[in-house]
Amino acid sequence: MATNLLLLPGDGIGPEVMAQVERIIAWFNDNGADFATETDLVGGAAYESHGQSISDETMEKAIAADAVIFGAVGGAQWENIGYEVRPEAGLLRLRKDMGLFANLRPAVCFDQLADASSLKRELVEGLDILIVRELTGGVYFGEPRGITDLGNGQQRGVNTQVYDTYEIERVVRVAFELAKVRDSRVMSVEKHNVMESGLLWKDVATKVHAEEYADMTLEHMLADNCAMQLVRTPKQFDVIVTDNLFGDILSDIAAMLTGSLGMLPSASLGAEKDGKLPALYEPVHGSAPDIAGKGLANPIATILSFGMALKYSFKMTDEAKMLEEAIQNVLESGLRTGDIARGDEAICSTSEMGDAILAEMNKLK
Ligand code: NAD
Repeated sequence: MATNLLLLPGDGIGPEVMAQVERIIAWFNDNGADFATETDLVGGAAYESHGQSISDETMEKAIAADAVIFGAVGGAQWENIGYEVRPEAGLLRLRKDMGLFANLRPAVCFDQLADASSLKRELVEGLDILIVRELTGGVYFGEPRGITDLGNGQQRGVNTQVYDTYEIERVVRVAFELAKVRDSRVMSVEKHNVMESGLLWKDVATKVHAEEYADMTLEHMLADNCAMQLVRTPKQFDVIVTDNLFGDILSDIAAMLTGSLGMLPSASLGAEKDGKLPALYEPVHGSAPDIAGKGLANPIATILSFGMALKYSFKMTDEAKMLEEAIQNVLESGLRTGDIARGDEAICSTSEMGDAILAEMNKLK
């Protein structure tokens, strides 16, 4: 039976980078795979079509698909519309309704791009860390929330950081499972010194480790120290597991270590049920309105996101490795989109980068 992929290109450069992923999918189909794809609207594109950032029908398709590949959403033209119909609301609904509680963000520095990092080459060369961020709980979703009028000319803004035991357990388990095929080291990050939710996080992580993963290494670090360590000696980490808010910030710090947003993939996974893993794969970057429509976008982050789908959803590890190798070879050859070019290096277009990756895949197959 064919593997069903729902493609949601979204806005800005989303459709441009997704077009290159479609070519990669077609290549795999020409070489023995059986992917069936359907494309639908999300974000501003969906709002323009039917007034919502994702329709119920598209949500049903996303839940039924074997994996969702997502481009990017957003743009200045939708900044002043209602919060619940804004482009980002479509992505939040996908995460919530698909139960995608674990966000995986690898920060891998390709040696060929080590000079594009804001840190010195020796600090980032060979860097390979994985940040596992809790995605459906914590302060972004906790109640009570809102802005209230205090009646004395003052207002009060409230958000609530809240975690239940099961939410911490399941994301910590994901981190250990992923660490098994890496260096078997998990760093749990919170702020137990000033937050009760951090205290609970630390206790639960310690218990999961002792009861289920005692043969692996668990360490704890305060979130502020972790931010500092990420720019001081990033290679000390293997897998970092942390909550929604700290994960948002720490994974963006890790992103810059690798040079460009245009290189960074991510996966968001839910709990496997009846052999089905809810999964959405997307680049870390946004819709990049400043370069949209110009053929300048780097498609590698989205192509690597599809590579993560091969690895995590379809257990096609060899194919995923081949795709990564093809990308490395292209970088080795010196081909660069604008975001990863340095000085007066020549710049290629989005589709030229796609052409080169496909040509490498033909050599490697
Ligand atoms: P952005 O990631 O879109 O762009 C930041 C900078 O990086 C820009 O200069 C852009 O040109 C560059 N860039 C990003 N991706 C690139 C690529 N693939 N190739 C080359 N250069 C690339 O972030 P932003 O400018 O802060 O946000 C733009 C819009 O995207 C906003 O509406 C924001 O809300 C939205 N956004 C969406 C997502 C998402 O869909 N997951 C994530 C972040 C931001």
